[in-house]
Amino acid sequence: MSNLSEEEILKLVKEISLDKDEKIFSSDLIEDIVIKEGHVQISIFANKDNFQILEKVGKKIEETLKKSINALSITSVLTNHIENNQIDQKDDQVDKKDDNESLKKVKNIIAIASGKGGVGKSTLAVNIAYSFLKQNFKVGLLDADIHGPSIPHMLNLEGKPELNENRKIIPFDYKGIKVMSIGFLLNEDQPVIWRGPMVHSAIKQMAQDTDWGNLDILIVDMPPGTGDAQITVSQNLPLNGAIVISTPQSVALNDAKKAIGMFKKVDVKILGIVENMSYFILPDGSKEDIFGKDGGKNLAKELEVNFIGSIPLDKEIRLNSDLGDPSKLEEKYFDEIVNSFLKNSKLKIKFKT
Ligand code: ADP
Repeated sequence: MSNLSEEEILKLVKEISLDKDEKIFSSDLIEDIVIKEGHVQISIFANKDNFQILEKVGKKIEETLKKSINALSITSVLTNHIENNQIDQKDDQVDKKDDNESLKKVKNIIAIASGKGGVGKSTLAVNIAYSFLKQNFKVGLLDADIHGPSIPHMLNLEGKPELNENRKIIPFDYKGIKVMSIGFLLNEDQPVIWRGPMVHSAIKQMAQDTDWGNLDILIVDMPPGTGDAQITVSQNLPLNGAIVISTPQSVALNDAKKAIGMFKKVDVKILGIVENMSYFILPDGSKEDIFGKDGGKNLAKELEVNFIGSIPLDKEIRLNSDLGDPSKLEEKYFDEIVNSFLKNSKLKIKFKT
């Protein structure tokens, strides 16, 4: 085989003419081109909605390249996350996981955190859990926000959880998402005055005593802030990392920065920043940057962490949270966040067809 580089192969791929339906493919979806000992493998990032067409495109790429380059083999693979189902699992996290029966079959645990309350942390947790579910992942959602557990309300779930024969908590179900919230264990009128040791045991117990079964991903809605409660969760759950959400105002960004600093101290990887309420779409379609522009993006740059994406201020988001049914949200904001997250994380798995 001639010594073709990845760039040259990419150039050839870009020149392939595509049918109308195949135009959902763009070279941005190529995650990797590996050339090894005369063999070429091209990885294309796919999701549940586009994999059939991308499979066709992959075949077309193979056939076309076979005619134009002299390789021993040319294969295209569709990828979609989770390699051996771990993102950069650290050794100490594996240890934490090992003494934890219920979480043993949970492949990835991701915290959603914020420096302050009211920035949309629970909204993000709920909606990305649903987006992961739509992509055929087995998803769990753990509401560890002891100060204001809002997930039962956002998913219209109520009651007390039951125990199974092994005395493990049976999580609630929202359209296939396994849900457990500290809110199910509290009386509604009970003032939530949690001190260090109580927080510690309550969250740890809730995570470990729930029968999660096999999960690809467990999303943890963290308590806001940078105090005891956050440190407790970080140290007691085998987190792969945390996504930090903020609005673009400087006060919120300063708090987000503190949260990122806190996670770094306790050795939790920052998987990225999401900016919420980034802009408002005016009736004429133009964008109004109510709280400032690009604050989250700039913070991500400054701290050298991944910027996952932004979500506008949208009445539909609030309405669907209040109605307790995020699946009704027609806008694709959160699907885009999940796709961007998966694309930039180290998760890789051959897409199950
Ligand atoms: P946190 O968990 O950070 O305290 P929530 O997720 O509970 O914040 O959100 C606070 C309120 O803001 C909720 O009423 C929620 O519906 C609303 N909200 C969150 N994000 C948006 C958005 N992008 N557009 C409109 N309303 C939003």
